[in-house]
Parts: sequence; C-alpha cells; structure tokens
Amino acid sequence: MADALGRPMRDLRISITDRCNFRCVYCMPKTVFGRDYAFLDRDELLTFEEITRIARVAAGHGVRKIRLTGGEPLLRRGVEDLIARLAALRTPSGEPLEIALTTNGSALAMKAAALKAAGLTRVTVSIDSLDDDLFQQMNDVRFPVDRVLAGIDAAHEAGLGPIRLNMVVKRGVNDHEVVDMARRFRGTPYTLRFIEYMDVGNTNGWSMDEVVPSAEVVQRIDDVFPLEPVGSLVAGETAKRWRYADGAGEIGVISSVTNAFCGTCNRARVSTEGKLFTCLFASEGHDLRALLRGGADDDALARAMRGIWESRDDRYSEIRSSLTPELRLARSRVEMSYIGG
Ligand code: SAM
Ligand code: SF4
Ligand code: SF4
Repeated sequence: MADALGRPMRDLRISITDRCNFRCVYCMPKTVFGRDYAFLDRDELLTFEEITRIARVAAGHGVRKIRLTGGEPLLRRGVEDLIARLAALRTPSGEPLEIALTTNGSALAMKAAALKAAGLTRVTVSIDSLDDDLFQQMNDVRFPVDRVLAGIDAAHEAGLGPIRLNMVVKRGVNDHEVVDMARRFRGTPYTLRFIEYMDVGNTNGWSMDEVVPSAEVVQRIDDVFPLEPVGSLVAGETAKRWRYADGAGEIGVISSVTNAFCGTCNRARVSTEGKLFTCLFASEGHDLRALLRGGADDDALARAMRGIWESRDDRYSEIRSSLTPELRLARSRVEMSYIGG
C-alpha cells in the first residue's frame, strides 16, 4: 500500500489518551489546557478491542511498527493489557510487530517491568533538561527530573532498550543545556535525540525565532565532543545520526523544521478518538471509529484505510517555509497531545 507520492505505510502511531499529568510549555500550555479544558469522555476513546483491530488490519497492509503515544500513554488504565494484545499480532509472514511507546517517564519506574512482561519492545522517554528547576518549569507541574531519570534506568533494567531520549530544544529556554545533556548521556546505553521545536497545533505560540536548527546543535556539541555522521540504517528514519569520534556512542537530531523528511515519511497516526491522520500537521482526520462502531468488517476497514492512504499527498514540513506567517496560522492543525508525536 503506497500513497500518492509512493510512500508505504510502515509505522502506525496511536494516541491512547488525550490527557497528561504534565503541561509542557511547548505542547499543552496551562493557559489553554487548564482546569476547564474539555478532554474526551471515556466512551469517545477507542477501546482496546478497537485499537487492536485497527492495528491488525494495518499489519496486514504493510505496517511493521506500532507506537503508543498520547497525551501521556501510561495514564491509560490497563495499558499493559493493550500491549499484550498488540504483541500477539503477526505480519502476513508471521513476524511480530515492534511495539514501542513514547512517555514523559513519570510512571516508568513503577511500570517498566510490567510493560516489558506484557510484550513492549522499547520506550522513548522525553527529557528536556537536567536542571531540576528548569525541568519543573518546562513541565509546569513541578515534576522533579530525578524521577524521570529513575524511570529511564528502570526501563533499561527491565530490558526495554535500546532507549532513546527526546529533548525538544527551545531557544532561550533550554538550548543552553544542549552540551550538558550530551555530556550526561555520552557513554551510557541511551541515545539522546535533539528535536527542533515544531509548530504543531495552534496553542503553543510557535515562532521560527525559537527554533534552534539541528545544524547549530551538532556544531555546539562537535566543538566539545567531536562528531562524525552515521549513515541511516532504516528507510523513513526521522533522526539524522551522529557518533562521537571517541566511541562514546551516538546522538540523533530531528530536523523537522530546517530539513524536512516528508519524502520518506511512512507514518500514519490514529487519534485518541479513532481518526486516521496522514500527517502530523493535517487539519482533518478520517473517522475510523464510525466505521468500527457502524459494524464494518475487517475488509471494509482495510479498504477505507487503503483509500485514505493512497490519496495522501501531505508534505507540510517541506512547504512550511513557503507559507507566510498569516497563511501558516490560518491552517488549523491538530494538537500534539491529541494525535501524539
Ligand atoms: N507524553 C509523552 C511524551 O511527552 O513523551 C508522549 C506524547 S508527546 C506529544 C510525544 C513527543 O512529542 C515528545 O517527545 C514531546 O517532547 C514531543 N513534542 C511535543 N510538542 C512538541 C513540539 N511543539 N515540537 C517538537 N516536539 C514536540
Ligand atoms: Fe504531556 Fe508529552 Fe505533551 Fe509534555 S509533551 S505535555 S508530557 S503529552
Ligand atoms: Fe510526514 Fe507530515 Fe511530518 Fe512531512 S510534515 S514528515 S508528511 S508527518
């Protein structure tokens, strides 16, 4: 199954809750996601049976990897049960899928062993600062960084590696920590990835001035710890990889703003309430839940997913720079906490 630009669907990201215990300034600012914010009701969420059906159909049509995300996916009650169901799925040639999860790490120390036992393959943990005060300011709920670090170690001990750590770099907020973060995680089992701050959603007040280009991140680290480029191993990989010349491991940079990778984008996303999005920056999703709850069988679901994917021609990050700020703002975009990263 390939889209209008010849890209296959390989990676399916499923948001399993729109709620989060953090209020990261670049994702769910408190001014918008406050006490009165209307999160989805429980019956609006896809059930585990519905999620598993979508994943099974997708696995029959080329998907090889499922990533659970959110909001904060570890807040969804019974997430281990869902993982066990997904881990039991097979591709047409009988292979298991890779089941990954992106988390803020707040519940990882408690849950890592159970997630591994349920069949989770690996985790990616978001960590934007090592300075406890700044970390607490960025998550805006005063959550201490030590507990996330303990969660990362617990995930490693549970065998949920190789673990990737994601740092969103925002100029004037945490960019002064780029080299300290690199220093802290060099020579550990963890691969740190620096993500350019993106204009996802309509609520984070994004401006290009706050983006630190990946080239600058690489330069700053290279000045202290020399780096060499590493060829990408996996088609559609979002991160450009660099290794430390002294053998202390690797970093990755995700340049969604300054060096878009739409040409190889093989990611589909399913929102918490079951809409299929063909791009992180799409304004509209396609309602799979209505099909599921309307009695569609697997063939009808597969036909619908194929039809949506085959008419896909998204490449927002490649055209972003050609949009005026007015045009960019006029496009309504779905929130990251609803669709996941
Ligand atoms: N709550 C989980 C977490 O934080 O890892 C999973 C969901 S979160 C939306 C997924 C990823 O998106 C995280 O790594 C987060 O840092 C990243 N993210 C959120 N807002 C972003 C933005 N404006 N630009 C770039 N990355 C962003
Ligand atoms: Fe929550 Fe993750 Fe968004 Fe932070 S980035 S507010 S942890 S969903
Ligand atoms: Fe894929 Fe859309 Fe991101 Fe381009 S902008 S890489 S098409 S999700």
